[in-house]
Amino acid sequence: MFRLLLRGPSGCRSAHLARSFSGSPPELPATRVRSIFVEFFRQRHGHRVVPSSPVRPRGDPSLLFVNAGMNQFKPILLGTVDPRSEMSSYRRVVNSQKCVRAGGKHNDLEDVGRDLYHHTFFEMLGNWSFGDYFKEEACRMAWSLLTEHYGIPADRLYVSYFAGDAPSGLPADEETRHVWLDIGVPPGRLLPFGLKENFWEMGDSGPCGPCTEIHYDHVGGRDASALVNADSPEVVEIWNLVFMQYNREVDHSLRLLPHFSVDTGMGLERLVSVLQGGTRSNYDTDLFTPLLHAIQSRAGPYGGRTGAADAAKVDMAYRVVADHVRTLSVCIADGVHPGMSGAELVLRRILRRAVRFCIEVLRAPRGALASLVPTVSHILGDVYPELHREADRIMDIVNENEAHFLSSLQQGSRLIHRTLSRKDYKHGVFPAAVAWSLHRDLGFPLDLVDLMLEERGVQVDHQELDRLIAENHQSGVRSQVTLDVVSLAELRRLGVPHTDDSLKYKYGLERDRYVFPACRATVLALYDGKTLVSDISEGQRCGVILDRTCFYSEQGGQSHDQGYFTRDSLQDVPYPVEAVVREGGYVVHQVTAADSLRTGDQVQLNLDQVHRLSCMVKHTATHILNFALREVLGLSVQQRGSHVSADRLRFDFTVKAPLSVSQLQQVDRCVNDIISANHVVHSQELPLQSARSIEGLRTVDEVYPDPVRVVSVAVPVSDLLAGRTDRRTSVELCCGTHLLRTGDVQDLLIVSERQMAKGVSRMVAVTGREAAQVRME
Ligand code: ATP
Ligand code: MG
Repeated sequence: MFRLLLRGPSGCRSAHLARSFSGSPPELPATRVRSIFVEFFRQRHGHRVVPSSPVRPRGDPSLLFVNAGMNQFKPILLGTVDPRSEMSSYRRVVNSQKCVRAGGKHNDLEDVGRDLYHHTFFEMLGNWSFGDYFKEEACRMAWSLLTEHYGIPADRLYVSYFAGDAPSGLPADEETRHVWLDIGVPPGRLLPFGLKENFWEMGDSGPCGPCTEIHYDHVGGRDASALVNADSPEVVEIWNLVFMQYNREVDHSLRLLPHFSVDTGMGLERLVSVLQGGTRSNYDTDLFTPLLHAIQSRAGPYGGRTGAADAAKVDMAYRVVADHVRTLSVCIADGVHPGMSGAELVLRRILRRAVRFCIEVLRAPRGALASLVPTVSHILGDVYPELHREADRIMDIVNENEAHFLSSLQQGSRLIHRTLSRKDYKHGVFPAAVAWSLHRDLGFPLDLVDLMLEERGVQVDHQELDRLIAENHQSGVRSQVTLDVVSLAELRRLGVPHTDDSLKYKYGLERDRYVFPACRATVLALYDGKTLVSDISEGQRCGVILDRTCFYSEQGGQSHDQGYFTRDSLQDVPYPVEAVVREGGYVVHQVTAADSLRTGDQVQLNLDQVHRLSCMVKHTATHILNFALREVLGLSVQQRGSHVSADRLRFDFTVKAPLSVSQLQQVDRCVNDIISANHVVHSQELPLQSARSIEGLRTVDEVYPDPVRVVSVAVPVSDLLAGRTDRRTSVELCCGTHLLRTGDVQDLLIVSERQMAKGVSRMVAVTGREAAQVRME
């Protein structure tokens, strides 16, 4: 039922409620705030209710996450909407959209926890007009909703409008100013701002126009106009109304759009904090208090403090954990898993940040983060039912990633401790090389390294760290330590056996998770870049040859594995593996020695399983793509090369002409059908000659080992060999590491296809959802 909340005659805020942190449910719960918004536009103003899209953008590679309600309507605004689709009939629309601002153009991650009103995940309430009403009606509806229906006193509100910009030839938005004056906003509360604050553009070209924003003063009883747009926690923007009237042309000129549109966005959490009032914190609302209560902290209860008043960062930790667990839940439910690139990498960073605050600052037990997931689904699941459906899976993924991170966190803390107690440590300045190693080798976000050091009263040498970061960007992969012909002969002369790397294939599936074997090994030989040596000192780059390894070495167009090893006698110190190459039967692990190392040392290898699994996903996706291209384009398609890394796959092939849109769609369909069918991926080692006799076998112009591995989708290799099937399937000679089921690719997105040279095309594809379900044996 739609209930009107009216202001009392004295202007008191009848809708404003006592602080809800006491635990009693607020008079106007967030659920009602949301539904009042939707119903106001639906019932009173004839808007159609459209569900939130998933946070993972579909078909928009310019975005990491959906970050505004407008995203899903972009085709309407750009005029590219399919006229046969339902969307093309939208004129007035209202919704509540799940948004994530933690990467790319909108990145609020650094503010989260420090302030009380930025989140990585938030809900954006919005109403739209596509060629229907414009400025006057939009402003009147917004004002009526806020002041009459939610009962917010008008004297707490400030409104900004576009002041114009002479250099770009843009006039002030006088029309909007007059609308607000007519509505009754006093001139002193109607504030002009420039391009940065009050002119919205979709991108370098496309729809754009002035906007008008509504700000709320949490204090009241004063003139707070100087605090508008001044980053003050007391005066906060709540609603942005964008009026798209121009199109920015490619030559940067502006043309009037054929149809004007309205795009508005109001943060639900900020609105609820106004309505459940008393404090200026989004965290003191029923969207967050159950989470703050549920956090199993041993560091005292949540106190709501910020900045210097929160010296131990306990309250910040509460907020970070509550915020991040919402983001993790929503993202995982929508198919974004913690991973190695793009949005997945951002999510991995969010998870690690949350775990660390949970364990180290709040001193919560392991598993505490995942234990909050049911509370998130309790708060949001009725509106976003996927949170109910996926709760168990979300908890599993959070727990597994937590376990993985904690083992490196422990190592990181010990490494910091060891560095600080070294004799050559210069007081107060932490060596940049160690900070860099924490980031690169143990996967710590740099801001986390900073925080950990800050807590210990030290600072990293930032100049040196910036230099290392720049050096890393420039060099990409460092020059490799490769064995020369003399050293290879020497290894043979000394009788050093070839490396047994069969463990790289010995992974399995257990209860739907990939399980990788642990690996202990002995250092058989060390190579300092010029000659074989018996020991290596700290800081030296070298090649390490072990008797066995579980690391995949770079070959067949697949990136080498990442990870590190530790010495049995020095378990705190990771020896990061920078590259893995295979030469003359020896697998050479390239490392910069974190401490000394000598032949005979026993080591424990730690594979970066998330990275490995990401490579496996791309690998199997490449096989499927290779097969699909042939199915669609015919047998003349020949693979010319490919590269598989954790974040994408590249596939070069011969083809007469660039693919048409319909061919691309067919390839896409074929690939995704194979993925959905979740076929078993088989592999078997065979003598090269018998392997070559398999019908339909794909090979590239490469020297294959003998025996060779044959990888086939859906049909066992033995059936293919015996001619027991006439089914066409993907079958390749291949030494890479593949998935065990095609379904684990989850989905494949072809990003680009272009001609590299006459008759040769290059296709680049990414997988959005990587199976990040990894477990250590
Ligand atoms: P701010 O300057 O406060 O970061 P913004 O200009 O980035 O806000 P818009 O892009 O105009 O905000 O988004 C529309 C509305 O969404 C804002 O008025 C605000 O209520 C809400 N909002 C934006 N970012 C966040 C966030 N990180 N967390 C919570 N709400 C947000
Ligand atoms: Mg912002």
